[in-house]
Amino acid sequence: MRLPDFTLARPRSLAEATELANDPRARIIAGGTDLVPNLRRGLEAPRTVVSLERLPELRKIEPYEGGLRIGACVPLARILEQAQLPAALREAAQSVGAPGHRNAGTIGGNLCLDTRCLYYNQSAEWRASHGYCLKRGGDICHVAPKGKVCRAAFSGDLAPALLALDARVEIAGPKNALGVKPLQDIYRDDGAHALTLAPGEIVAAILVPSANLRSGYAKARSRGAIDFPLAGVAMALALSRDKVKTLRVALTGTNSCPILLKGTEELVGRAADDALGSAISKLVQKQAKPLRTTIGAADYRRQVAAVLARRLLARLTHGDKQ
Ligand code: SF4
Repeated sequence: MRLPDFTLARPRSLAEATELANDPRARIIAGGTDLVPNLRRGLEAPRTVVSLERLPELRKIEPYEGGLRIGACVPLARILEQAQLPAALREAAQSVGAPGHRNAGTIGGNLCLDTRCLYYNQSAEWRASHGYCLKRGGDICHVAPKGKVCRAAFSGDLAPALLALDARVEIAGPKNALGVKPLQDIYRDDGAHALTLAPGEIVAAILVPSANLRSGYAKARSRGAIDFPLAGVAMALALSRDKVKTLRVALTGTNSCPILLKGTEELVGRAADDALGSAISKLVQKQAKPLRTTIGAADYRRQVAAVLARRLLARLTHGDKQ
């Protein structure tokens, strides 16, 4: 599958990059592990591809307000080497693809992965023979034929870890605008338009607070060595005298955007025991909304997310093995 024709731009400043990207038909490329296969399959037809490779300021990890500021183009392989980063983030980075993907793929790119679906991530010929769907080129969803919104699944591993860690993102925009917003604000629950970023807006850095939390990430996948999550769960918690002081849980692979579980604040003050694991599992089962977008059955993905959450709690509180 050949790449389509496009102009490759290699700006030398973030301001230039945002100006070049300020075109609905421009796409940003960092590691390219998501965009290039999508280009080869004809899922994207950009006029311009804006490379961030000549922006060394996006590859720094530096202290920031007591936490860490991670440049969006820091490769995943570097994340998992940084012992000062929270375990959830390192475990999520370790779980992405194979070493080649982790050397090329970046933290910002992983946050901005396109959503995935069995009926979409196929060759142009396959999609043409099956009939285009409403994510691109058609007016029907093969997964939910009565639905009007694409339900392709978000499958990034780092977003749930960063949501659980209460991370924020720096967004660079056209005309030198730079804003900071909570990570969840860059997502919406729509598989065809899962990112809220406007043309020209680029994730420049991720701000990870230092909060002294126990954290971890666990995922289920079809191929253990290299695969997207059928379901992934990140958790960050603090205990005080064996009672929950802070608890944040986030999911990936099950919905069209990564989600921070609602209702965990009501579990604060409870003992970190099996009953708490069951309560978290129930929240997961209620809020995970997998559909038939992967080879894994939807109900299996919901159940496995709940089990992963319960095991993750046990690992973080008692050191139990998964
Ligand atoms: Fe297409 Fe439906 Fe899959 Fe979205 S969920 S990619 S609209 S088949």
